[in-house]
Amino acid sequence: MKEMIFKRKRSLILILLFFVTINSVSGEFKAKNVFIVVGDQFRHDESFGDRTHQNVPHLWKDLVPKGSQIVTFYGNPSFMVLVHLATITGSWNDIRRLTPQDFPDKPTIFEYFRKHLGKKKESCYFITSKHEFNYMDFSNHPKYGEDYGAYVEFTREPNNDAELFQKLTAYMKKHHPSLVFVILGGAKSFNKIKRPAEVERYRKQLKEMDKTVYKIWQAIQADEVYKDKTDLFFLNDHGDLMDHEDCDDECKRYVVMVALGPDIKKGYVSENKYRQVNICPTVGAILGFPTPFVDKNAKVMTDILLK
Ligand SMILES: [Zn+2]
Repeated sequence: MKEMIFKRKRSLILILLFFVTINSVSGEFKAKNVFIVVGDQFRHDESFGDRTHQNVPHLWKDLVPKGSQIVTFYGNPSFMVLVHLATITGSWNDIRRLTPQDFPDKPTIFEYFRKHLGKKKESCYFITSKHEFNYMDFSNHPKYGEDYGAYVEFTREPNNDAELFQKLTAYMKKHHPSLVFVILGGAKSFNKIKRPAEVERYRKQLKEMDKTVYKIWQAIQADEVYKDKTDLFFLNDHGDLMDHEDCDDECKRYVVMVALGPDIKKGYVSENKYRQVNICPTVGAILGFPTPFVDKNAKVMTDILLK
C-alpha cells in the first residue's frame, strides 16, 4: 500500500515536471520586438575575418561583446543573389527559381508573424536601399500572401543608407513596428586583385555600414518602447562574391552573424553550423509564432538564447 502511494506521488511529480518543462520551452521570451539587419556585400575577410577589425569598430567593440557571435555561420556558396529570401522564409526553396523578381512560394516571416499573432500591417516593416529587392514583402503561398505582407519602404536614392536610417527611425517613432527587416545596400565589393583602387572606397563604405548598424542599435535603446525589449540580429547575405577569386574558399562560405538583446547570451561564441535559414524559426520562437513551412533542417538557434 505504502509503495503504491509512493508510486502515485512520483508519477504526479513527473506529470508536474513535464508541464513545467513544456512551459519553459514555449514560455515567454523578454523581447517584444525583433530587428533583422542585413549588410549586403559585407565581406567577411574585411570585417570579422580581419584580425584588426579596423573597418567594423562599432560592431566589434560595442555590439559583439554585448551579444552572441556565430563564428561558423555559413552561407550557401551555390546561391548568391537571392540569399535574403532564405533569411525571411527559412528555406532555400525560392533561391533556386529562374526569374529573380518573382515573389517567393514559401511564406515570409512577415506573413507568419501577422497571420498567427493577428498583427496589423504597420507592425511589420521592411526597408532597403537596394531597389531591386522589390519582391520580398509577401509570398504566393495560398495560406498566406499579400494580406499578411509587410509595410515596405525604399530609399529615394539607391544604396543611400543615410536616407534609409532617417526613414527607418521616422517610422520607428511613428508606428513602433515589432518586426523589422532592414537590408543595407551602401557597400559595393570588388575583386581586390583585379581592382585594387576600388578597395579603399569599399572599406570606407564598410565603415559607414558598421556605423549605421550601431546607430540602429542606439536608436532602439533610446526609445522607451524598444529599450531592453528588442533583440537584434545582424548578418550579411553571402561571403565574398563567388566570381571574385580574391579570397580563399573559407571566406566565401563563412558569413557573419551577431545577435544581441534581452534574450541573447552575452559574450557567447557559438560554433554550431548555422545558415541564413535558421533566422526565421529563431525569431518565431522569440516572438511566439509558428513557422510551419521552413526547411526541415532550419532549426531554432537555441544555444544563443538565454533559456
Ligand atoms: Zn548581395
